[in-house]
Amino acid sequence: MMNGPPNSKPIPDTARLKAADCAHVLHPWQLFDIFPEEGALPIAAGDGAYLFDSDGKRYLDAVGGLWCTNIGLGREEMADAIAAQVRTLAYASPFVDMTNVPAVQLADKLAQLAPGELNHVMFCCSGSAAVDSAFRLVQYYQNCRGKRDKKYIISRHNAYHGSTYAAMSIGGKPGDHPPEFDYISDRIYHISAPNFYRAGAGLSEAEFLAELLGELEQTILDIGPDKVAAFFAEPVMGAGGVIVPPAGYHRGTREICRQYDVLYVSDEVVTAFGRLGHWFASQDVFGIQPDIITVAKGITSGYIPLGATLYSEQIHRVISEPGKGRCFAHGFTYSGHPVACAAALKNIDIMEREHILEHVREMAPYLQAQLQTLRDLPIVGDVRGMGMMACVEFVRDKVSRARFAEELDVGKWVSNEADRRGLIVRPIINLNVMSPPLIITRDQVDFIVSTLRESIQAATAQLIAEGHF
Ligand code: PLP
Repeated sequence: MMNGPPNSKPIPDTARLKAADCAHVLHPWQLFDIFPEEGALPIAAGDGAYLFDSDGKRYLDAVGGLWCTNIGLGREEMADAIAAQVRTLAYASPFVDMTNVPAVQLADKLAQLAPGELNHVMFCCSGSAAVDSAFRLVQYYQNCRGKRDKKYIISRHNAYHGSTYAAMSIGGKPGDHPPEFDYISDRIYHISAPNFYRAGAGLSEAEFLAELLGELEQTILDIGPDKVAAFFAEPVMGAGGVIVPPAGYHRGTREICRQYDVLYVSDEVVTAFGRLGHWFASQDVFGIQPDIITVAKGITSGYIPLGATLYSEQIHRVISEPGKGRCFAHGFTYSGHPVACAAALKNIDIMEREHILEHVREMAPYLQAQLQTLRDLPIVGDVRGMGMMACVEFVRDKVSRARFAEELDVGKWVSNEADRRGLIVRPIINLNVMSPPLIITRDQVDFIVSTLRESIQAATAQLIAEGHF
């Protein structure tokens, strides 16, 4: 069997690799109890939308890494741009009075692409750090304004904003808040996720929207508008189950935030750089101008880690007020890393030249429509998505929408079947989540949908055989 795509490196022995992995690597979110038995799938090579394991088996990666391999893997041009930057300048300090050429060029480009007056960029190395930086910027800004009590954050249940202490505390997925970890709990409030499928029976979308907006406003009033600093929201909730809000949700929440002097932080770590068919989703898809946008992932299509926090001219005016002797005492050794910024510039260049945003706008409706055909399957309760984000929700009862027991991990039953058939989808308890590379073709969409159908059918047969359905 071929060991990965042409020109990939020789691959070490799979059994040894798995044993070393099990002995030394801590895998985020993998259950300690089952890991020694199940191990991890060792991926050895990638090409376009495909991954190859260490035995050479090919998989269509419908997860796009982790919502990030937007332009696809294995591009020579990316390798060349990265190598050239390493040769020219692999590192320069970003602190105080030094900068580097790719970081400046990228900040300039981001300021052009970002909506409205989001002209200022703070670089970091991940989405979590971008959210953490936003959190610190919010505090700094409110303190600069003399509003030292204005520190409370409002987020949503089921939100995912990353894994640093602050980002995870802002996040709202119950499974991400096990009791063994500590969180900031006194100044972060979580309101309902805009999940219409799980809204009360008989509620119209407009009624549901009114409820959600009422809840945000009431929460601000309960805490006290002079105490609420910011609202954090993903345009479409990703890891929380691809939750597309009802029409008008972001405009409504933005308006309430404006009314009560609350900053609006749009976490576009997943949605920026093409996933919804635009550079940024906040304005072009949802018609809002946030105060702060966080990005990562698609900014380099995963070739090199990079995150950024973009913030408004208005915030900058306040924090940099002349004569105050202030500096923003926050940053990282690798803020604006020249190699990461060069990778981002090349990634954006490829997206522009190959019209990848236009491709998403054409291909995403096909992906979404084809996935809808899975609704006839007996355990498929909901199929939802937007752009190149999609999710299938499995239920024990389609009418009552009753879930399978969480411990059953039904999404994993389906994704295991998909693995066997050469398709990677992401199981999240009772969901299968997808975010394919943006360059995906019609034939690849057809493969995803037909393979997913077979995998759901196989998992259903097993569930029946074992008395779970
Ligand atoms: N914000 C959102 C919306 C995300 O989906 C993620 C990761 O999935 C993050 C932040 C954290 O990004 P990272 O894993 O790069 O730290």
